[in-house]
Amino acid sequence: MVDLLVTQSRYEEAYERLGPLLSQLPQVAEKRARIQALGVAAQLYFEAGQYDLAENYAEQLLKESDSPKSTCIGWYYKLDALVGSGGMKASGAEIRDGTDACNKAGDVLISDMFKAIVARVDIQKGQPAEAIKLLTKNYLHVQQKRFPPAVANFDELLAVAYWQTNDFDRAKNFALRVVASNQRGGSIYSESMATAYRILYQVEKRSGNLGAALAYHEKYMAADKGYLNDVSAKVLAYQIVKQRVLAKRLQIESLDKRNKILTLQGQLDRKAAETSRLWVVLLLSLLAFIAFVTYRIWRSQLRFMRLARRDGLTGIFNRQHFLAEAERLLQYCRKSSREACLVLIDLDHFKVVNDTFGHSIGDRVLKRAVEACQKHLRSTDVFGRLGGEEFGILLPECSLEQVSVRAEVLRLAVASVAMDDVLDVQVSGSFGIAATAGSGYELRDLLIDADDALYQAKHDGRNRTVVFDASKADTRSRQRKSRSGQATGEALDHA
Ligand code: GH3
Ligand code: MG
Ligand code: MG
Repeated sequence: MVDLLVTQSRYEEAYERLGPLLSQLPQVAEKRARIQALGVAAQLYFEAGQYDLAENYAEQLLKESDSPKSTCIGWYYKLDALVGSGGMKASGAEIRDGTDACNKAGDVLISDMFKAIVARVDIQKGQPAEAIKLLTKNYLHVQQKRFPPAVANFDELLAVAYWQTNDFDRAKNFALRVVASNQRGGSIYSESMATAYRILYQVEKRSGNLGAALAYHEKYMAADKGYLNDVSAKVLAYQIVKQRVLAKRLQIESLDKRNKILTLQGQLDRKAAETSRLWVVLLLSLLAFIAFVTYRIWRSQLRFMRLARRDGLTGIFNRQHFLAEAERLLQYCRKSSREACLVLIDLDHFKVVNDTFGHSIGDRVLKRAVEACQKHLRSTDVFGRLGGEEFGILLPECSLEQVSVRAEVLRLAVASVAMDDVLDVQVSGSFGIAATAGSGYELRDLLIDADDALYQAKHDGRNRTVVFDASKADTRSRQRKSRSGQATGEALDHA
């Protein structure tokens, strides 16, 4: 493709394709493909005036060559580059080696083309006779190959060589052949063409045919200009592509750098995100820990508060809390004009229970009695243990009529307390009742009056309920004085 593009003068495209071809070359294993690529590179760089590069590729081709023909091709390109870069660099040894190689290559066009270069070197060295000898010897051969540019090259060199040897007729003759070959082929301006017109112009001038000389001179100028234009087009194309590749590489490098920066930035961002995630986790852990500790503290506080308010054996309110709650409830009932009743309970002959069955059975009986009462209480009723086997219940929204019925229910519940394992345990309780309707809303008065009624219940034979008789209220203080040792006294003092 590169070759074809060059023949169509599409130099930019040719150089554009040469770059990828050469960068792929290290991966190309097939010998013939490699040699062809190296040859194309040598030729194209030669055309662009890059003689060192052309020489390098030619040498590479020579190193890799596996046939006399490709060795000859390698020498052709090498010598071409050497001559192109100044001519005199080509040493006799190199010319000999190349000649040997091309002789071995046999009947191939490239061999003739190599000889043309050798002839050119001879001419440059001022040895036109050598050149004529070499060219004449191979002239028939190159003509048989039917490759016009090669024949034109021979003709051109012969014209120059004969001009140098002052054989003007022959010089003119060969120069005219070059011109004729071009008219047949109609190809673009070549070096051969320019040289041929130059020789013709010089011959005519020398012969005094100034008209013809002028005409050839004009053609020489045009051909030379065309040829030089072609050369500079190639050089320009090469430079353009080179700059383009350079610009692309710079762009890629800068993109690569930007990419690296972005990658680094990404890494940094990830690190920062990780760090902040760690912080969040740390803070959450701390918060969870604080919440846990707070919860534990709250739980134990709650437990302590409960312990401080409850009776350890029965679980109902202890005396202090009962009195406080009862007081609060009575205030509420007073404000909202609701009735309330206070019931005091004292278990009968409890000492006997303890003495007969032991203290632990006594404890269990106490618990059972409390449970029996709780079954008949509302959530608004306040139930507490005042001490020993004595209990108090404040019943809000309870009239005098209702309280007798409810107290009776509680008495029966206590009396029916049974112990599965100790069948003959007998329990009962005495109930003293005072109502706000008769005793007022003062807890102290209610306690005194209920205690009074309780005393009466004991006195009347126990296991019964007695409602305080309000008409006896005036004798309250006398009775209180007469009684001492009743456990309720302690509660009264507290109240
Ligand atoms: P009554 O009230 O009918 O006149 O006779 P009582 O035997 O119940 O008399 P008192 O009220 O004087 O005695 C109460 C007894 O209750 C004294 C004590 O042995 C017992 N007791 C007090 N607290 C507890 C307790 O927590 N557990 C047990 N097992 N017994 C207790
Ligand atoms: Mg008692
Ligand atoms: Mg008792």
